[in-house]
Amino acid sequence: TDTKYDYDLIIIGCGVGGHGAALHAVEQGLKVAVIEGHDVGGTCVNRGCVPSKALLAASGRVREFKNAQHLKSLGIQVGSVSFDRQGIADHASQLVQNVAGNLQRSLEALGVDILMGNGKLMGPHTVKYGKPGRVDLGGEVTAKDIIIATGSVPFVPPGIPIDGKTVFTSDHALKLEWLPNWVAIIGSGYIGLEFSDVYTALGTEVTFIEAMDNIMPTFDREIARLSERLLIKGRPIDYRTGVIATKVTPGVPGVKPVVIELTDFKTKKVVDTMEVDAVMVATGRAPFTTGLNLQAVGAETDRRGFVPVNEKMQVLDTKGNLVPHVYCIGDANGKYMLAHAASAQGISAVENMCGRPHVLNHLSVPAACFTHPEVSFVGVTQEKAEELAKEQGFPLGVVKTSFKANSKALAEKEGDGLAKMMYRKDTGEILGVHIIGLHAADLIHEASNAIATKQTVQDIKFNVHAHPTLSEVLDELFKQAHVETPVAA
Ligand code: FAD
Repeated sequence: TDTKYDYDLIIIGCGVGGHGAALHAVEQGLKVAVIEGHDVGGTCVNRGCVPSKALLAASGRVREFKNAQHLKSLGIQVGSVSFDRQGIADHASQLVQNVAGNLQRSLEALGVDILMGNGKLMGPHTVKYGKPGRVDLGGEVTAKDIIIATGSVPFVPPGIPIDGKTVFTSDHALKLEWLPNWVAIIGSGYIGLEFSDVYTALGTEVTFIEAMDNIMPTFDREIARLSERLLIKGRPIDYRTGVIATKVTPGVPGVKPVVIELTDFKTKKVVDTMEVDAVMVATGRAPFTTGLNLQAVGAETDRRGFVPVNEKMQVLDTKGNLVPHVYCIGDANGKYMLAHAASAQGISAVENMCGRPHVLNHLSVPAACFTHPEVSFVGVTQEKAEELAKEQGFPLGVVKTSFKANSKALAEKEGDGLAKMMYRKDTGEILGVHIIGLHAADLIHEASNAIATKQTVQDIKFNVHAHPTLSEVLDELFKQAHVETPVAA
C-alpha cells in the first residue's frame, strides 16, 4: 500500500459488482474498503436475481404439480395441490438473508473494510461517506484507485405513481405481500416475463402492456415468437402491444381497481382505458448515480444518468479524456445490466489498475431469463448477424435444433424448445447462440466460453458430450455447422 493513502482501492457500492471487484483486488494483494449506503449485496442479492429465483423455483413447482396432464404422461397422479403464499415469500426472504450473510462474511474474512454510508467523490483519491443526506456524519477516506459500483433502481415512466401496493415495481413484487387476481405488467423484458411466470403459476392473470409491436423486443425474433407460444399461450396471459401506459391511477387492494390509460405508441392518441387489480412496472432500470459528485473529478453522467467509461472501465471526463484512477462498473455504466457482467467488469477494472490491460468482450457474456422454460443467449441475434454478414460480406451460417431431438429432454417430457447458432461459414467464428428450453440458462455457457476463448466451430465440433444430456443440444448445433475450409490433401 502506498502510505500516502488509507487504502489501495475504495469501492463505492457493494452490490455484486463491488463485491466481485473487492475479492479480486484482495487476491492481487490490495488493501480494500467498500462503502455501502443500503444493503451489502445490492440489488442482485436483496431485490433482484436471488429472491426472484426463489419465487420462480417455488411457483414453478406449483405449476408442475398442478399440471395433471403433464404428470399423467409420466405416469404420476397427484391429489389437489395447494400452496402457502407466505411460505413462498419466506423462502425468498430467508434465501436473501443467507446469501447476503455469505457475501458479507466473505469480505470480512478477507480483511475488506465495510464502511456503511453513502459515498461521495471529493477528488480522484478521496471519498466522503456518511448517513444518507448527512455525509458530514461519516468520514473521509483516501485510496490510490476508486471504483464506482452504485448500480441501479427501477425505472418508472412519467405518469405512473408508485404506491407499493396496487402500483409497484419488482422491489415490492418480490415480497409477495398479496396475490392480485389480475395484474397488468408494463414492459415485457426479462423482469416482466419472470414475474408473469410466478404470477400465472400462483393463479394470477397477467396482461402485458408493451410499447413495441411484439413482446420481448430485444430478443432474437424467432426466439421471441417461440417464447410467445411457450411462455404465454396456454397460460392466463394476454398482451397489448404497440401501446404505452400514459396514466395510472392507483386503487385499493381487493376493493378498488387501478385504472390505466393506454396510448398508441406511434400516433400518441389515447386508445383505451383498462381496470385491473394491480400494475407492475417493469420498464427497465435506471442508473443510481445521483449524489456521487462526479464533478469532483471533472466528469458528469450522460443524458440517462449513466457514468461514461472506456472499454477498460475507466471513467471519462466531460471532454472524453480518461480520469486517472477512477473506474465505474456494473449497472451504473449501463454497458450490460446483469449481475455477472457487473462482477466481470469489476475484475476487469482491477486488472487494469494493476497494470495488466484487460478488456471484457461483452459479446461473450451470456444472458438468461429464468422462466419455465428458460431462455438464454450469448452474442448477437440472427437479425444482427444478417446485418453484419451483409456489411462485412461474409457467408453466414444458421443452424437449429429442437429439444424434441434430445433424448434427455424427451425423458423429462420437456421436448418444447429450440437452440440456434449463427456463425461465419468462412472462419467458423461463433456469432451468437440462442436457446429456449429446459435449463437453457445452464446450457449457454459452452457457447459463451467458446466465444470468450475465440474457439471456432471446428475447434469444438469433435468434442464429446455425455449421453443422454441436455448439453447434447449444443453438440448438435456445433456438429451441424458447416465451415467452408479447403480439405487438406
Ligand atoms: P447493484 O447490485 O445495484 O449494487 C449497487 C449498490 O450500491 C447498492 O447496494 C446500493 O445501495 C449501493 N450504492 C448506491 N449508491 C451508493 C453511494 N453513493 N454510496 C454507497 N453505496 C451506494 N441479473 C442477472 O444477472 N441475473 C438475474 O437473474 C437477474 N435478475 C434480476 C431480477 C430483478 C427483479 C432485478 C431488479 C434485477 C435482476 N438482475 C439480474 C440484474 C442485477 O440485479 C443487476 O444487474 C446487478 O445487481 C448490478 O450490480 P451492481 O453491482 O452494478 O449494482
